[in-house]
Amino acid sequence: MSNKFKAIVLNQLENQFTREIKNLDNSFFKTGDVLVKVDYSGLNYKDALILKNGAKLVKEYPHIPGIDFSGKVIETESSDFKLGDEVVLTGCRVGEIYPGGYSQFVKIKSELLIKKPKSITNKNAMILGTAGFTSLLCAFAIKSREELLLGEKINDVLVTGATGGVGSIAVMILSKFGYNVTAVTGKKDQSKYLKNLGASNIIERKELEGEPKVLGKGLWDGVVDTVGGNILANAISQTRNGGIVAACGNASSIKLNTTVMPFIIRGVKLWGIDSVQVGKKRREFIWSQVNELIDFNLLEKNVKIVGLEDLLKVFPSMLEGKISGRVLVDLNK
Ligand code: NDP
Repeated sequence: MSNKFKAIVLNQLENQFTREIKNLDNSFFKTGDVLVKVDYSGLNYKDALILKNGAKLVKEYPHIPGIDFSGKVIETESSDFKLGDEVVLTGCRVGEIYPGGYSQFVKIKSELLIKKPKSITNKNAMILGTAGFTSLLCAFAIKSREELLLGEKINDVLVTGATGGVGSIAVMILSKFGYNVTAVTGKKDQSKYLKNLGASNIIERKELEGEPKVLGKGLWDGVVDTVGGNILANAISQTRNGGIVAACGNASSIKLNTTVMPFIIRGVKLWGIDSVQVGKKRREFIWSQVNELIDFNLLEKNVKIVGLEDLLKVFPSMLEGKISGRVLVDLNK
């Protein structure tokens, strides 16, 4: 493949950080055994941080960002893939230490790629992306109270940062599981959207921002937290006996002001979620569940599709918490 292709390239020269759309050729790629023609990528919170300044996650420049992509195999040295296979990749430090998905082509190590389930399109795979993948990991962590731990039935669950990428998809999945979902949001005007996704109740973010009680009234059997800080601390203090709190994000704060009491008096479990370093079998399992749990028609109503040029204009809004739903990057645009 000697064609030129378009990609966002980040560079750091002395104190100057730059981000530009460039025409490259495949000599840019130093590693990898599969060449993928990328159809879609997405914008996640981590992408926005990396686009801003590399976020100390990018180790070498020049660098192509974009932590997710879906596309088609067009060259392969690996016997695990054949030409034309549709593939998806989320996390695995792609867009950080490996070239990422904000590029029309990417050469990548075959062990990081997953064959996309036939039941979903390349576009839908990236409507989910890392955000949706993380929501699924969080939702299955909560569900394990019933299954793995043989605990009581889950009734009431809380989702924080509910209009965000991870939060909104978590609301949908948890309501699909049959749980009564309460969504916490700073965007009261998005209540209708959250109810359409399956939320039964909406709580304003500020109600959970105060100093947490050591043990609050037990309200939740499970929590998906995307924001950290006092909101997570309050959610933990309001979790019922044996409840599971799946913590994946820090959109509000990396701090956690809590005590051991919810853990030793109520047996609350704080379950950290990392979507980056997930074994291939687990990733295949998660992707295999997508068709049953995700209503793409509903998600698509809150998807903004951008090309690379617009992506560079849009990403700062994510860091300001102003985006609701998903931003999809169309590499053919
Ligand atoms: P988004 O920006 O799409 O969503 C974050 C949401 O959090 C916002 O929409 C907003 O929702 C809420 N929020 C924003 N700022 C604040 C604030 N200051 N205080 C309280 N709430 C706030 O991001 P993503 O959904 O992509 O990611 C969410 C978090 O999860 C991020 O911290 C991200 O880094 C993390 N993450 C972690 C992963 C992992 O593997 N552990 C994988 C993917 C994401 P609302 O207005 O509705 O309250």
